[in-house]
Amino acid sequence: MDTNPAADATNKRDPKARVLIQYRKEDFSLYLLSLAAIFVVCFLAWRALRSPPAELGKSDFPILFSAWEWGHRGAFIALSGSLVYLVICFVVRRGAARDPSFTRTVLRGGASYLSYFGALCWGARRRTLRLLAFWCVALAIERVWVTRAPGSFWTRQLPWQPIVVAQFLIPTAFRTVMLVAHLARRDHVRGVLEQSPMKRWIKGMSMWNHVVQAYVTGVICHLCLITPCVVFYAATRPTYVREAALLFGYIVWNQCERRLRFGAEMPIFFNNFYKDHANCHVSRFAFTIVHGHHHDTIPSGLAAVADSAPLESTARTLWWGWFLDSILIINFQFVWLVFRGMHNHQYIPGVFPYSRYVIAICTHHVLHHYGSLYPLGFVSRFTRDGPFYGHANDLSHGYEADNAKIRWYIDLMEKYEGLPPHARERILAGPTVLLGEAVDSVTDPIRTYSAGGA
Ligand SMILES: [Zn+2]
Ligand SMILES: [Zn+2]
Repeated sequence: MDTNPAADATNKRDPKARVLIQYRKEDFSLYLLSLAAIFVVCFLAWRALRSPPAELGKSDFPILFSAWEWGHRGAFIALSGSLVYLVICFVVRRGAARDPSFTRTVLRGGASYLSYFGALCWGARRRTLRLLAFWCVALAIERVWVTRAPGSFWTRQLPWQPIVVAQFLIPTAFRTVMLVAHLARRDHVRGVLEQSPMKRWIKGMSMWNHVVQAYVTGVICHLCLITPCVVFYAATRPTYVREAALLFGYIVWNQCERRLRFGAEMPIFFNNFYKDHANCHVSRFAFTIVHGHHHDTIPSGLAAVADSAPLESTARTLWWGWFLDSILIINFQFVWLVFRGMHNHQYIPGVFPYSRYVIAICTHHVLHHYGSLYPLGFVSRFTRDGPFYGHANDLSHGYEADNAKIRWYIDLMEKYEGLPPHARERILAGPTVLLGEAVDSVTDPIRTYSAGGA
């Protein structure tokens, strides 16, 4: 079991807390299990995208039709090859050892994770039930429309497949540019990481492979994020009128939320996010199967999607109900989410897409990727000049915005990219708005870990 290597600076109240930050060679069988589960999730998305949209008729658009078919076959080969590559990377870096507690961890930890997932769904019930109600109303409108005006434009199937494929390919193209940039500057990447707490961690595998592994993790993670949506769309076959009703519902709800200031759902998300994240760093099952991949790469935007690992992303799409919302809106939001995730995880300064965004939004999440447990939540601005948020639980555990680790990172940024005026003071100033509640020592997952979570 790894202990928090940055406990001195960021974990003052429970410096001996046993938490999971990196995989060990004994985790190999659990890691394999996680990749098998990721394969199943990605396979479901792949199957759902098997048929091109009806508009892409074989006789009308033969080139596009065969491009779709070839792309679909190629995606399967790429997916299978990528997962095998991740297995090889795991073994090359740390070897593989037998795990005598494998069955107990899977059974006990799996049951515990399911109950935790149930708690996350329950925590987000106000939003998911609202989305479900909107979706049922949209379906009812569609049924009425189909009986009143059968065969009209509005009752035709929405070609959701190109929307999803574009949503996936646009950030992936950007990620590929990042891959080329990181490969071209891999000596620089190594040079930066050798000055960091990851110095020992990067040994054992070439930087070329570290970079490619981060890229592969990011692409697979993106696919896992959207799988519940893709499967849901394929199963429920949305029409234009249903999508129009969902779009209308989204706009009305958001305007009401903004102007009348009622029903704000984001605090629910932040609370769930924190609980989920804390659990993932203390439960061996949750870490090795669900969250560990997010920490198993160099700290680069290459591996980032929505601040989560592959299966964690799938779970989040499920408990947050993204699949129930308007297809156009959600897929647009996914593009934004993934671009933002890639930019605010670029913790290796001096390589594209550079770390200026990290500095602009003053995020302290960088420490979490350089081996520190805290902050587990967002200590960050979400926009350049917005309020500075922090999670109450991080602060109650003694996290201080002005600490040695974050000063080290600011110095690193200054060295390789320079700092805008007052950036240092802005980052070290710390949160002005608190999210969530500080949990007491009885329910605190970090403390109760010693009680024996699997
Ligand atoms: Zn984490
Ligand atoms: Zn992260």
